[in-house]
Amino acid sequence: MSQSLATVAYLGAAILFILSLGGLSNPETSRRGNLFGIIGMALAVLATVFGPRVSPAGIPWIIGALLVGGSVGLYAAKVVKMTQMPELVALMHSLVGLAACLVGFASYVDTSVQLAGAEKLIHEVEIYVGILIGAVTFSGSLIAFGKLNGKIGGKPLLLPARHWLNLAGLLVVIWFGREFIHAPTVAEGMTPLVVMTVIALLFGVHMVMAIGGADMPVVVSMLNSYSGWAAAATGFMLSNDLLIVTGALVGSSGAILSYIMCNAMNRNFISVIAGGFGSGGGAPAKSGEAAQPQGEVVAVSAVETAELLREAKNVIIVPGYGMAVAQAQHTVYEITKTLRDRGVNVRFGIHPVAGRMPGHMNVLLAEAKVPYDIVMEMDEINDDFPDTDVAMVIGANDIVNPSAMEDPASPIAGMPVLEVWKAKTSIVMKRSMASGYAGVDNPLFYKENNRMLFGDAKKMLDEVLTVLKS
Ligand code: NDP
Repeated sequence: MSQSLATVAYLGAAILFILSLGGLSNPETSRRGNLFGIIGMALAVLATVFGPRVSPAGIPWIIGALLVGGSVGLYAAKVVKMTQMPELVALMHSLVGLAACLVGFASYVDTSVQLAGAEKLIHEVEIYVGILIGAVTFSGSLIAFGKLNGKIGGKPLLLPARHWLNLAGLLVVIWFGREFIHAPTVAEGMTPLVVMTVIALLFGVHMVMAIGGADMPVVVSMLNSYSGWAAAATGFMLSNDLLIVTGALVGSSGAILSYIMCNAMNRNFISVIAGGFGSGGGAPAKSGEAAQPQGEVVAVSAVETAELLREAKNVIIVPGYGMAVAQAQHTVYEITKTLRDRGVNVRFGIHPVAGRMPGHMNVLLAEAKVPYDIVMEMDEINDDFPDTDVAMVIGANDIVNPSAMEDPASPIAGMPVLEVWKAKTSIVMKRSMASGYAGVDNPLFYKENNRMLFGDAKKMLDEVLTVLKS
């Protein structure tokens, strides 16, 4: 393939990626967006493999690697459960970071290209910065993976003087950067490069370990952004324009998503970027300081729940992580359909950080074919709870926790939540009185107008559906 044809293919792929991102911003166009992304990626891979920069002798190696990587990806996509998607995404981010590191080291030791003067300096800065971002992304994403699948506890690890530690790390990295650029030989440049990589790896671990459970959504979207910048850095190292464009697209869209997540959680974007977040909300979370919920818990049965729903005119369903665990979305759809056929106004209230990844609930509801026009964002529906007969909370906890608004000492204080307790009756469907991801008690369970339907969401909803249909 000639250089000009490869350039045209790259341009086409870049346009398809932009169209893909545009499509993914709306559930109705997201399938098309996904398709654009797939075509763009196929075009990019073909143009790279058969482009002018790959010698024919290298093609079998690349095809072999594609087959191995593709098979692992296909297998992972087939076996992964919907609830494991956030962990899988974190793991993929870590691979982007690892790739940036490996490409950085490989292009440093590659002596086939002899550069001098400003070109050499720019290339070395690209390598240094690329490996730095890649290493932070790699180790940070691995810790995020551990935190999301529960292997690492959600409690923030707050080392004494951690900001000073980070600052010292930064200064050492800058110092070794200078050493690296002035190193006369590759062998001498290797020591500062390796030291910086180790510091960057430790920084990635420290950064994510210091983040409390409730702040994890911001971390997930920030690592998404970092993985984009790591890919862009790889693009600079390899002088691959498409990789630079694609990396920048992922990096900037991830940054925008982080900003949206910060707003949703009432966190300050600048302090998040500066790493100034840790124990959670507005007030420092000291154990025992937050008020203990008071009152009585009233349990209901599936039959009573069905009766409450049957008598209601307006119902808002608030899904959370538990709906994903129970895979209850199809039964939720059936219940919605049955109620709507009876003339009940049923809508969904989606919190921006519900579940374990951005858009988690929207994906599940779309999979179950719930119509998009009844799926509302938190801001669109929050004022409607006082006019609602039944607010049905399905496997959600933190996103409906009134202590975020009522208790300044709560670790999630200040986070906007869905105000389900303002409905005439709220019903919370979960298995026990256990707390959610943020590990905070929920006073909603003790409110006078709240009822608890204990049990697995799918099992309980199946029972509710049977009663509704009878
Ligand atoms: P939560 O984790 O707060 O609560 C989920 C609840 O679901 C649990 O309390 C659990 O209670 C219940 N549950 C679990 N399994 C089942 C089941 N099979 N049937 C019924 N209930 C079940 O989830 P939310 O969606 O309310 O809030 C999301 C939390 O995750 C927030 O703290 C957010 O910050 C965090 N987060 C979000 C990310 C994102 O990008 N969206 C990323 C990382 C973290 P029980 O055990 O009693 O059943």
